Amino acid sequence: MTGNKKDKKILVLNCGSSSVKYVLFDNTLNRITKGNVERIGSPDAFIVSDTKEVCSVPDHKTAVEIILEKLFKNAIKDKDDIKAIGHRVVHGGEKMTQPSIVDDEVKSEIKKCFPLAPLHNPHHLAGILAIEQLLPGVPNVAVFDTAYYKTIPAHAYLYALPYYLYKKHSIRKYGFHGISHQFVAEKTAELMQKPLDKLKVITCHLGNGCSITATKHGTPVDTSMGFTPLEGLMMGTRCGDIDPSIVTFLATSESMSMNDVNKLMQSQSGLLGVSGVSNDMRAIIEESGKNNERASIAIEMFCYRVKKYIGSYNAVLEGADAIVFTAGIGENSSIVREKCVKGLSRIGIEIDTSLNEETKEGIISKKSSPIKILVVPTNEELMIAKQVQILV
Ligand code: ADP
Repeated sequence: MTGNKKDKKILVLNCGSSSVKYVLFDNTLNRITKGNVERIGSPDAFIVSDTKEVCSVPDHKTAVEIILEKLFKNAIKDKDDIKAIGHRVVHGGEKMTQPSIVDDEVKSEIKKCFPLAPLHNPHHLAGILAIEQLLPGVPNVAVFDTAYYKTIPAHAYLYALPYYLYKKHSIRKYGFHGISHQFVAEKTAELMQKPLDKLKVITCHLGNGCSITATKHGTPVDTSMGFTPLEGLMMGTRCGDIDPSIVTFLATSESMSMNDVNKLMQSQSGLLGVSGVSNDMRAIIEESGKNNERASIAIEMFCYRVKKYIGSYNAVLEGADAIVFTAGIGENSSIVREKCVKGLSRIGIEIDTSLNEETKEGIISKKSSPIKILVVPTNEELMIAKQVQILV
């Protein structure tokens, strides 16, 4: 018989702008299978599961249909086999501060945040609507990237704009990548064999999108992304912190519309904009090795900014216990990690170069370093599945 409550599975979906990633977990949260559909809407769309297959995927609904088809062939008997579907949702605004079973109100809140996360929220909702149609009766749970930051104090989340704008439009820092930062902070406590509520950690999520979060005794107190995921560190194609006057200057001097300036800051800046090579750190490191000056300066800028945030969050935390690197760049680039903490021995941060080269997960600082440095691979899907299991 299918649908035995004990054997039920959790499906996690992460619907991006042109991709849908999925992971299927069993009821003890072991991964059964995973895959992704890429290049949705383009003629060369494909699905990767055990193999890579080119297929026609005009929209997110089709992507979800193809994923379910695959799962029903290999891993799931029928829809009663699925306990719930967890969805990563980037922006939950001020209201959605907990993982929530999707109902009309939750969908409306996700929609309200479209203008704040135009590259993410519309696709998350498309995925939810598709699966509601395809698997009626199976609960959907929205897990918000912003929810982790609900405890950030007002002095950290307010911008120094007229206060009525916060009241009128909820203009404030929200923070993103919360699912990843929470997972990594919890894993850090496990690896350091200390309770999280006794630790002060700075987690550096360095992927295509990049953010840093300061978590004090299990509670986040500040984070580098803001009202939208554009603020903070330099990223693959996003500029991160700039003088806000540059926006109006560009609009006037380059005769650009606000929309064009926004596009420039979102998708033509960051590592790509400075290096002129790529948004991909691997390619930039390779070019830098061939004496490409712009590639080298892009790497220096990237690491310098991480270092500045580490210093400022060390102050915010009044002394951190650990600096943690995660996501594509943070997990894989020993060069970047070393540059981000270079010269910080005076404030108690000393990397061990051989541990930094060898370690895939664990401590990479010298034994004598008062502040530990760690590499921790993130696992957002597992974190989502954990939250779903608590709720359903
Ligand atoms: P996303 O934010 O899209 O999930 P990832 O976390 O996968 O991104 O990170 C993508 C980034 O990680 C890219 O810039 C990629 O070049 C970088 N990356 C992956 N492996 C390495 C590596 N070995 N060295 C340097 N950068 C790497």
